[in-house]
Amino acid sequence: MIQRIVFMLIALSITAACQPEPSENPRADQPRVLLISIDGFRYDYFDLGQTPALDRLVEGGVAVDSLHHVFPTKTFPTHYSVVTGKYPGHHGVVANNMWDPDRDARFSLGNRDAVGDGFWYQGGEPIWVTAEKQGMTTATYFWPGSEARIQGVRPTYWKMYDGDVPHEERIDQVLEWVDMPAGERPELITLYFSTVDSAGHRWGPREAPVQEALEEIDGHLNRLLDALETRGVLDEFYVLLTSDHGMSRVDFDRYIMLDDYLDLSKVRVSDWGPAAQIWATEMPVDDIVESLEDAHPNLRVWAKEDIPERYQFDTHRRVPDVLAEADMGWMISNKPYMAGRSQFQLYGMHGWDPALSEMHGGFAMMGPGFVSGSKSPAVRSVDLYELMAHVLGLTPADNDGSLDPFLPYLNSDQAVTYTSHQFDCDGSPVEARVAPAHMALHWQNEVHVLDRIETDEENHHQFEATGLAFEFDQDEASVEIDDRFDADCVVIQ
Ligand code: AMP
Ligand code: ZN
Ligand code: ZN
Repeated sequence: MIQRIVFMLIALSITAACQPEPSENPRADQPRVLLISIDGFRYDYFDLGQTPALDRLVEGGVAVDSLHHVFPTKTFPTHYSVVTGKYPGHHGVVANNMWDPDRDARFSLGNRDAVGDGFWYQGGEPIWVTAEKQGMTTATYFWPGSEARIQGVRPTYWKMYDGDVPHEERIDQVLEWVDMPAGERPELITLYFSTVDSAGHRWGPREAPVQEALEEIDGHLNRLLDALETRGVLDEFYVLLTSDHGMSRVDFDRYIMLDDYLDLSKVRVSDWGPAAQIWATEMPVDDIVESLEDAHPNLRVWAKEDIPERYQFDTHRRVPDVLAEADMGWMISNKPYMAGRSQFQLYGMHGWDPALSEMHGGFAMMGPGFVSGSKSPAVRSVDLYELMAHVLGLTPADNDGSLDPFLPYLNSDQAVTYTSHQFDCDGSPVEARVAPAHMALHWQNEVHVLDRIETDEENHHQFEATGLAFEFDQDEASVEIDDRFDADCVVIQ
């Protein structure tokens, strides 16, 4: 950090002394960011096929176990959290299909007018808006929110979403942006691919067509990395390879029909699937909750104020009156909808609790501040906005994230890794993967991310996050996960 400040001061004084030409770019030495999203690329797809470009990113930077997303684990909410650092309950993109009670309007990702309307995104400030407001040029080759004016601002270069644009064309455009002269070129570039997600929905996670889709994208990414290397600019870039969620297997014998328990003419359901977002239009909230409570063994229901704190799905007016969530692998639908759908094939889905490991996205990060060979436990997607702002030299807008988990990785001149500790917590196995400033708690089929709390006691490690706590010393530990699990633990040797 000090080195960085001294460097910046020297750079500033040189710039001031030389009276720069107008074309000279004061950011010439500032790293650039390439933010990539492979939709539906689950954390465990790194070993799915032959993916040399992914290997290069993992080996050349920090291999991160996985990316813990936000609720609901759906494309628009999660992508928007990555670029704003806020939870959907705060930025307001609460689903791929949502309803705004003030405007009495609906949003769906297939509705081009809604997708391009800044109204839906004003609760958060995407990194490209932060950058443009601070004088930086940005470009998006697709990203949810990038087609809309947010606070009146769009990326300098952006594209209207079209999933049919060949991947080759996307890479060519990115390289054209990279080749622009300093001062004009974008310093932040996003790139998006949808085909791994589509194959995952159609065939199920890790099936052969998913592997093929991933290998196809990897080939294009490899060309991109080669081209950056040939130009001698690869090490100017922070390459963040993200995915917006994982994928879990679903099947037709695991559907919960909401109309078996609720008169659908008396409520509005703004989103269906792993979770149903329900509005009390002609039926009181308590009656809806009562109708769905204990209705089905694979269904949970909460009134808005009782939604688990961990989801942070709370303050925004678009968060529905009632949330019903199915167990992973189960879907919530209704009889008329399903009657018309007997032919369709859907063997993969996402949208459940972001802590479920199958909902975690893949993630790797490489860049001039990271040392190759580093390894990190799971990180949170809401922390990536702070990371991008930091490496781009921007002042971040208000957000829910933190740079702290990344700082030890950015400030080290040798590879940073983590340690793994096994515990028996009242008979339930828990693994703690402990990094310098954060940890991942592996319990049952869930992985949670917690922040380190500084303590004075030697050998005592304490971690917290909303709804979560974990602490341990040489021979014992304690764990708290929502109000579901609260236990004392002993170390397993
Ligand atoms: P999901 O099932 O939540 O993963 O949504 C994936 C779908 O979102 C993709 O297949 C795309 O068709 C769609 N999508 C992704 N980005 C955009 C965008 N910027 N505008 C509209 N649709 C998008
Ligand atoms: Zn997605
Ligand atoms: Zn999807």
